[in-house]
Amino acid sequence: MVKGVKVPFVDLRAQYIRIKDEIDAAITDVIGDTAFIGGKYVSLFEEAFASFCGARYCIGVGNGTDAINITLRALGIGRGDEVITVANSFIATAEAVTMTGARVVFVDCDPHTYNLDVEKVARAVTPRTKAIVPVHLYGQPANMLPLKEIAEEYGLSVIEDAAQAHGAEINGRRVGTFGQAGCFSFYPGKNLGAYGDAGAIVTDQESLAMKCRMIANHGRISKYDHDFEGVNSRLDGMQAAILHVKLKHLEKWTEQRREAAARYRELLSDTPALAPNEAESMRHVYHLFVVRLSNRDAIMAGLKDQGIVTGVHYPIALPNLRAYRYLGYAPDDFPFATRYSGEILSLPMFPELSNDQIAYVCYHMKNLLKS
Ligand SMILES: *Cc1c(COP(=O)(O)O)cnc(C)c1O
Repeated sequence: MVKGVKVPFVDLRAQYIRIKDEIDAAITDVIGDTAFIGGKYVSLFEEAFASFCGARYCIGVGNGTDAINITLRALGIGRGDEVITVANSFIATAEAVTMTGARVVFVDCDPHTYNLDVEKVARAVTPRTKAIVPVHLYGQPANMLPLKEIAEEYGLSVIEDAAQAHGAEINGRRVGTFGQAGCFSFYPGKNLGAYGDAGAIVTDQESLAMKCRMIANHGRISKYDHDFEGVNSRLDGMQAAILHVKLKHLEKWTEQRREAAARYRELLSDTPALAPNEAESMRHVYHLFVVRLSNRDAIMAGLKDQGIVTGVHYPIALPNLRAYRYLGYAPDDFPFATRYSGEILSLPMFPELSNDQIAYVCYHMKNLLKS
């Protein structure tokens, strides 16, 4: 742990130490079998992750950004098309759209859940719209049921960005299975994280699964026979073996995140810090525990002085980034995403976070909010 840090934002080392023997053995096996690209470790993980999500197919890819991009490409989306997504997300969601040649169209978030506002989606549809990419931001499912009705009404594809929401559910059904496909990131800090970059696509549609697999592997049908030009974006054997070990622990880790969230909620209930909304029908998996505060920057600095590391996800809403100036939006077009980017604060959140650490964070939050 970095010197002076009392509560880190995430603690990947604490997790590794608890499962070191399993991880080290898995890595040794992959090297012993020289199963570096493709091979049984990848297939075994793909099967296990498909089953975890409740999907028929899983295609391992190089990272979560590619998962979204490859799926959009496989659905034939490209130049001249528009794809709707939410104004408050990580840039990868929008980049994956732009990389296909399509134009990204942003809509504001719902003021309570911070997820895409479904009514605003309907208003953003044009004759060029081909798809919607909802993001299950912070680990809370987007409002998929009304969104799917809109998608059906206008004949649009739905590709879920589930990069922050492994195992999140709506009425007991896992995210990634509501749209045509679900896209996951296994970036090390995600709820299921590899020891490097990795990602996956899950889908129930056999033809889409095959197309995604081909795009991710040079448009290949056999070793040197290529149907079209694809990309090189594969999940490697080492990451697959590590992910397979970690997947067995994921349910327990998710419950630990949920318990930590409940404890934060309780200890902060009599403060002005607004805790995340959690709908009855949804299982929030708390990739992040995000509160809202009017004096965010001062509280963040005060917590840092006490050795507490926090984050902001994200400090600039996507349409307000220089990268998207060419789209010609104004901050007022996204009143909630714009306002909240100055008020949101992500508190330390990881499965191994102890009750003492949570109490320490909340004690200092309360002191700072009083002064
Ligand atoms: C992490 C993340 C991605 C991208 O995943 P990478 O594996 O880093 O490419 C996409 N969308 C969201 C919401 C993310 O949090």
